[in-house]
Amino acid sequence: MKVLIVYAHQSSGSFNAAVKDAAVEALTAQDCTVEVSDLYTMKFKATATAEDILGEVKNAENFCYLEETNLAWEEGRLSPDITEEQRKVTEADLIIFQFPMYWFTVPAIMKGWLDRVLTKGFAHTQERRYSQGIFKDKRAMLSFTTGSCESMFSADGINGDMNVTLWPLQVLAPHIFWAPAYVADEARSTMLEAWRTRLQGLLGEEPLSFTPLDCFDGEKGFQLKPEVYEKHATQEFGLTVGTHLGKPLPPNNQMKAGV
Ligand SMILES: Cc1cc2nc3c(=O)[nH]c(=O)nc-3n(C[C@H](O)[C@H](O)[C@H](O)COP(=O)(O)OP(=O)(O)OC[C@H]3O[C@@H](n4cnc5c(N)ncnc54)[C@H](O)[C@@H]3O)c2cc1C
Repeated sequence: MKVLIVYAHQSSGSFNAAVKDAAVEALTAQDCTVEVSDLYTMKFKATATAEDILGEVKNAENFCYLEETNLAWEEGRLSPDITEEQRKVTEADLIIFQFPMYWFTVPAIMKGWLDRVLTKGFAHTQERRYSQGIFKDKRAMLSFTTGSCESMFSADGINGDMNVTLWPLQVLAPHIFWAPAYVADEARSTMLEAWRTRLQGLLGEEPLSFTPLDCFDGEKGFQLKPEVYEKHATQEFGLTVGTHLGKPLPPNNQMKAGV
């Protein structure tokens, strides 16, 4: 198994660094080949611009990043930093995104990685996406720290339900380290221990549940097919956090596999 850790923290003394180091150690011990993209050390460019394309762009006046990078990918004209990350993604069976939560999502440098590396053609096409995507057999997970404590991200907490925040960025269940800066040293050690334990079984984990592409009608704006809707009509909860059908959200749909 090959694992890519896309890591975004400025400091090697941070809790994120400790979590990343624990993952490298535990996965290497399981005979995985582990590569780390340390985005701040690499000074990874966060902005999606025309400079990501070598040579002339097709339409400089009305530059369209999606189509221009698709073409550049086909012609091998993406910038070397993108091409190198695409090589790592191609080789990886599992990608772990390790980061501190910034403004309810990934830090800008990691968002830049997602925007720039997962280009059209390479990571998705009109035909090959969602459950039929190019990378459908790969696994990915979010492993992140917060400033907020867990109750703040609950269904009745001030930040709202973390399941909603995380929809629909994920594949495997996330691993969340709640507020490491505000707990005792002992609690941080316990969090790292729980992470090491999870890493032992991570490679065999089932993904979170999402509704497959063929449940939606492409001719009708990708809405749920009537037969799927009807089949679910008597169920208490929606299909997923996103496709909730106006019903209560399935509890922990974005936090636990099999829900
Ligand atoms: C721009 C910005 C936006 C933000 N937005 C949000 C948001 O939307 N929601 C939210 O909840 N939070 C938010 N935050 C807070 C942020 O998520 C936290 O500051 C971050 O997650 C803390 O992780 P860290 O790795 O930086 O912790 P650190 O501060 O590096 O570490 C915490 C503690 O762990 C200790 N430590 C380090 N290594 C070890 C080890 N091996 N064993 C035990 N202890 C260790 C450190 O010494 C420190 O005392 C935001 C912060 C910023 C800067």
